[in-house]
Amino acid sequence: MDKIKELLKNKTLLKYILYFFYIIITVGVLFSLLNHSAIRNFFSTIENKTFDVRQNILAPYKKVNKNIVILSADEESYEYLIGKYGEWPISRNIYADIITYLEKQKPAVVAFDLMFVKSLKSSNNADGNLAKNIAKYDNVYTSINFDNQSFDLRKPADLPAYLKADVKNYSDIDLKNSDLNFLNCRVIIDEILNSTKNIGHINLVRGDDGIARDLPPFVLYKGEYYPHLALKVAMKYLEKKEGLKQNDFVINKDLKMQIGKRTIPFTQNGSVILNWYGPSGINSTSTFEYIPLWKVEKSMYENKNLVAYDYFKDKIVYIGTSATSLFDLKSVPTDKIFPGVEIHTTFVNNILDNNFIKRVHPLADIVISLLLSLFVGLIVVRSESTVLSSLIAIFTAIIYSIIATSLMYFFNLWIGIVLQFASILLVFIACYLAKYIMKSRDLEYTYALATTDGLTELYNHRYFQEQMIQNIETCKRYVKSFSLIMIDIDFFKKFNDTYGHQSGDAVLRQVAHILKKNVRSSDIVCRYGGEEMAVILTQTAKEEALITAQKICNSVRENPLKLVNGNNVNVTISLGVSTFPENGETSQEMIKYADDCLYAAKEHGRNQVGNFVKDKS
Ligand code: GH3
Ligand code: MG
Ligand code: MG
Repeated sequence: MDKIKELLKNKTLLKYILYFFYIIITVGVLFSLLNHSAIRNFFSTIENKTFDVRQNILAPYKKVNKNIVILSADEESYEYLIGKYGEWPISRNIYADIITYLEKQKPAVVAFDLMFVKSLKSSNNADGNLAKNIAKYDNVYTSINFDNQSFDLRKPADLPAYLKADVKNYSDIDLKNSDLNFLNCRVIIDEILNSTKNIGHINLVRGDDGIARDLPPFVLYKGEYYPHLALKVAMKYLEKKEGLKQNDFVINKDLKMQIGKRTIPFTQNGSVILNWYGPSGINSTSTFEYIPLWKVEKSMYENKNLVAYDYFKDKIVYIGTSATSLFDLKSVPTDKIFPGVEIHTTFVNNILDNNFIKRVHPLADIVISLLLSLFVGLIVVRSESTVLSSLIAIFTAIIYSIIATSLMYFFNLWIGIVLQFASILLVFIACYLAKYIMKSRDLEYTYALATTDGLTELYNHRYFQEQMIQNIETCKRYVKSFSLIMIDIDFFKKFNDTYGHQSGDAVLRQVAHILKKNVRSSDIVCRYGGEEMAVILTQTAKEEALITAQKICNSVRENPLKLVNGNNVNVTISLGVSTFPENGETSQEMIKYADDCLYAAKEHGRNQVGNFVKDKS
């Protein structure tokens, strides 16, 4: 008890230790909650939304690679072409001609973000024509798509060995047990499949909210890796432009893959997080360079120069659809309606410009959360003003978000915001509660200090006077009685002279202890002054008070008390008792009566309970 009081006196240190524990416990609780998958999913869903917000803020400031051109079947082209040919999809002869038209301008790569599947409508002649033109140039690419269609509907096809990617995976990414391990494949027409190795997949990864943030550079099918079309296109471009020859892909322990000098960071799920550019260039101001398909068609067949003569030279030409009526539209962080072809060109762009987003290690998020919480906790502890500390906490959160957004812009780093905000909020609340509890404890302590006698730890004179008045009032109202015992140690001056003042103090403390032991907890034991003590016996009539007084008198006499030198000694006390209302109706009258009794006891030889009335009579 004394030790605790001592600690309480050293309040600032204790305060900081307590706050530190509060913060650790609060943050600990938060992190253990995160072990539940539902809560973790909830947090990651909101975190993804903050990613979208950040991407939206930054999109206008990003520069798109202008060497990528989208040649697109947009709304206008769709209407024009279906009007002219009366069918959709248009004949594959037209695509074959587009290849010829483009190749005249020597583009770096031509990529079809279209899948040429076998259909009733496709004519063998046109299919063969297209396949022949694709195979004719080593820079023309097209796509396949993997799915999990049941075997009843479609038998998993065998793909030519040359479509596989040589991947060495030294990381803990496990595609086998992921969504990127596919059971089936939507095959394209045999003529193309068997005549070119320039085929990549165009599978997407979508979050629980349907938004595509990541893409998989590789998927697994029948135990083999297959590369994304965009990856193949980028590799071809780098081979042509930078002389890069790389036949295999290595994913190292740190989830990174090198493409020449470029580093591609993977997520634990085996995908890469794209750095997104503005809204779709087709619906608003241009994101990617963009040419509608009808212009090329007219230039080819009607000899109209609607597209500059060497517009496609050295560029990556991505042919796809963007017309809303063709349903190749997805949600991405920066737009609700975003054509698939733009998603894939974004992928190419990110590879070429070494631009992928890297999500920081989960441990980094935890460390940041802890640091922020400690800071905010400290502000709450130190600040006297609630308004000020609230403002600082909010300000901290805002500044942190700005830093997080800047890191994404300058270093492509995605550091968490949600966990950090939750930590700040929780610690803020916890520290406020803690502070509130400490304050009320402080008040209790101050109150105890103001009503307690330092030497004996009994109530002090002031408290005694208050309680006398209160008891008188209560007893008056309810017509009850209470008693007062005044106590004085016998020959204490002599005691001090004989054994010293320090032993006198020790004896005072021990007598106080005996008093407390001999009364009820509802009774109030006080140090009246010097070696005089008083006990207020609440709701106690005369007879009972006299019995208690005698019990105290005996107990003090019979208890050996310790001197500072370790020896034992006995003291005696004299007592006087008064009772409300018969011996006095005010505090002064009652004290006076008890004092008179006490003096009677002294006169009668001390070591006894005095009886003033009897003495007078
Ligand atoms: P009596 O039996 O008549 O009461 O004799 P007494 O010597 O006790 O006389 P009185 O009550 O007048 O003496 C009070 C003495 O108590 C004076 C002082 O030396 C001693 N005293 C008062 N307060 C303290 C204290 O806090 N510590 C110590 N050690 N002595 C105290
Ligand atoms: Mg005295
Ligand atoms: Mg005395």
